[in-house]
Amino acid sequence: MTTSHYIAGRWVDGQGSECISVNDPALGQPFAELMAASAEQVDQAVAAARAALPAWKCTSAGERAAYLRGFAEQLGQRREALVTLQMRNNGKPRHEAEVDLDDAIATFGYYAELAEQLPGQNRDVPLAAPGFTARTRLEPVGVVGLIVPWNFPLVTSAWKLAPALAAGCTVVLKPSEVTPLCELAYGQIADTLGLPAGVLNIVNGKAETGAALSNHNGLDKLSFTGSNNVGSQVMRSAAAQCRPVTLELGGKSAILVFDDCDVDAAVQWIVAGICWNAGQMCSATSRLLVQDGIADALLPRLQAALENLRVGSPLSEEADMGPLTSQAQWLRVAGYFATAREEGLQCLVGGKVLDRGGWFVSPTLYADVPEGSRLWNEEIFGPVLCARRFASEQQAIAEANDSRFGLVATVCTTDLARAERVADALEVGHVWINSVQAVFVETSWGGTKGSGIGRELGPWGLSGYQSVKHVTRCLG
Ligand code: NAD
Repeated sequence: MTTSHYIAGRWVDGQGSECISVNDPALGQPFAELMAASAEQVDQAVAAARAALPAWKCTSAGERAAYLRGFAEQLGQRREALVTLQMRNNGKPRHEAEVDLDDAIATFGYYAELAEQLPGQNRDVPLAAPGFTARTRLEPVGVVGLIVPWNFPLVTSAWKLAPALAAGCTVVLKPSEVTPLCELAYGQIADTLGLPAGVLNIVNGKAETGAALSNHNGLDKLSFTGSNNVGSQVMRSAAAQCRPVTLELGGKSAILVFDDCDVDAAVQWIVAGICWNAGQMCSATSRLLVQDGIADALLPRLQAALENLRVGSPLSEEADMGPLTSQAQWLRVAGYFATAREEGLQCLVGGKVLDRGGWFVSPTLYADVPEGSRLWNEEIFGPVLCARRFASEQQAIAEANDSRFGLVATVCTTDLARAERVADALEVGHVWINSVQAVFVETSWGGTKGSGIGRELGPWGLSGYQSVKHVTRCLG
């Protein structure tokens, strides 16, 4: 990939002032660099998307579905290159990089199917009033800006791109400066498939480029995934222009383990919920709530499981967990280890960075963390688990809900009536019962409270890129 931006169907070099280093986190060293897009190039990308919109929104749902199937197929054909790139740039172990690729493929396949069903969404509306007919027409929102983070680059972009293109929108995608190469594959695929120029544009860059896009007055909508801090800036610029915004933000999610749970299964779910992607998941279940009756059996086994986790380079087949993806994230997690020491937290495992050249940290468990602790309340975005004990179901629900976030939760119990009852009481967007981090394209993704606005995936993901029009006719 010699050029790093895809604008109006052409590959171009960045003309911005900032240089982006692309790093290998296992070595802590750069392996590529590129120049960011300038504000003028963001302008050109939005103009190209605007110019492509009239023709693209008039393509048949079948044509758009065919392009989406093409994306799915082409991702599959690039499997080894994309898996390797995610291992190298994100630090993901191979099996995790493969899951991401399969998720992106499934997303394009799913929205191809939904695109085919679009004509059926335009239907007559029965009216109680006589003398009128009415019909619904679902139209694309228009030109959409898509800004994404670095933790699941292929996936997060697929969750936005596929429904936006299915709905008939044209887009400008800005990947994260930490992982700017992965999503260029979507531009290459657009080239291969002969997607009309301007339907998909990709501009790489840092905050400056993101701000140039989110402030641009040529957009009809912005969909953002990332931190709460940047999310609120993006929301302010959307407010200034009175245009819609979807926000997928942070989380501080709970995993609730009840007394009747199978201890070994619970340990597996807890470890996966905090160590997958080295804990760099908005949906990490980083608050463990464990019932009094099982805590003494569970905590030592959890401690052993975390101690036995093999942390290493993703290139080693043996690594269960790779490094953190960026130096900034590594320093941030190290900062939380220091805070934990200042707060006097009881550390059962880890609590330190690893001296290996790359950006590695050890899986970490703090026990009996006070509810006022910063580590209990703030999103850390690393493999750092905080545990508290509870006595009753009501207490567990109250503690899980006592958060400014509301993204996900996991409930572990063999009492299925209780599981469903607790799931209903949790103030989050997605609950897993006796499973962990299982996201299916048919279900929704998104949070309540400070975790965001709107939903991705499923039909809800598509409707985020649709505008509802009604045509009402007087028969008289
Ligand atoms: P971030 O907010 O720093 O960056 C996200 C994107 O915004 C990047 O592309 C970045 O370049 C861009 N950006 C930065 N400043 C900007 C500005 N002023 N205007 C416009 N764009 C700007 O987040 P991150 O560090 O890349 O990702 C980690 C965060 O993302 C965590 O908080 C995590 O919880 C969240 N996240 C949420 C979900 C979800 O689905 N809810 C999924 C993944 C990550």
